[in-house]
Amino acid sequence: MESNVLTEETMTEMTQIRKIRRKTLLYQSGVEYADYALNHVEGCTHGCRYPCYAMMLKKRCGVIHTYQDWTKPKIVENALELLEKELPRKKNKIKEVFLCFATDPFMYQQPDVEELTLKILEQLNRYSIKSVIISKGIYPKVLSDTSRFNPDNEYGSTLVSLNDDFQSKYEPFASPIKDRVKALKNLHDAGLRTWISMEPYPTPNLVKQDIQQILKEISFADKIVFGKWNYSKLTQAFRGYKDFYNVNAKEVIQFCKKNRIDFHIKDKTIDLTNTEIKSTEKKILSNYLRLTAVSDV
Ligand code: SF4
Repeated sequence: MESNVLTEETMTEMTQIRKIRRKTLLYQSGVEYADYALNHVEGCTHGCRYPCYAMMLKKRCGVIHTYQDWTKPKIVENALELLEKELPRKKNKIKEVFLCFATDPFMYQQPDVEELTLKILEQLNRYSIKSVIISKGIYPKVLSDTSRFNPDNEYGSTLVSLNDDFQSKYEPFASPIKDRVKALKNLHDAGLRTWISMEPYPTPNLVKQDIQQILKEISFADKIVFGKWNYSKLTQAFRGYKDFYNVNAKEVIQFCKKNRIDFHIKDKTIDLTNTEIKSTEKKILSNYLRLTAVSDV
């Protein structure tokens, strides 16, 4: 079994970014809310223990073998070169570029990753392409310079709990939650569009918390995405987990409507088969599903 403890030697290695070369960079994501995407780093020092879906895929393909391999990232050293080749050909097809599904573009305390990400965002901006970003790192203030970065970019942070013990267990090397939210709020205050991903949201057997407290903390965001915890038997072990997600999805919908925040509930988070929730809650969720089904047509 893999050890959860990283030695001092491993920590030192984690801060020394290695390099790889790739043949292509931009790809069509095929994901419900993203158009094109790119991953300019392989691996991620955050080492999330949800587990990380990207790590699972890389293990399945044999690219990495252990958790420790994953937490020693490699920068794609020819990323800018590849973008310069691909953008002129693809620019008319691209609505926006998502960073990143398989790594973190603002990996905490990784200046090399941050530097490359900023250069990529500038390059996309030169082609007037908007970026949608998600990170568990700290957004630098320089992003509010709209002469360098597209003012339409959307900056997102993952926030599924305010509990420090939960974070040390499941996002052991990501940025501290308070600093993460503060940096995102700075971008919001500078007039940029910000969003929060509340995914994977934990069940009470993993952490006891009040979703209203979290929502209050992030009420400045322009959009909230809520999704259940996948790829683990832990959440399904919680009795009534299906209705737990139904009720919490309803809380998110109501909170966002009341505070005029855009929202999206991820596919399969709401499940109204054999539900025991109140009929008023069921009605709110059914309406949401009906409206999103109509807007997807
Ligand atoms: S931040 Fe994202 S990519 Fe990095 S380990 Fe966590 S889930 Fe994986």
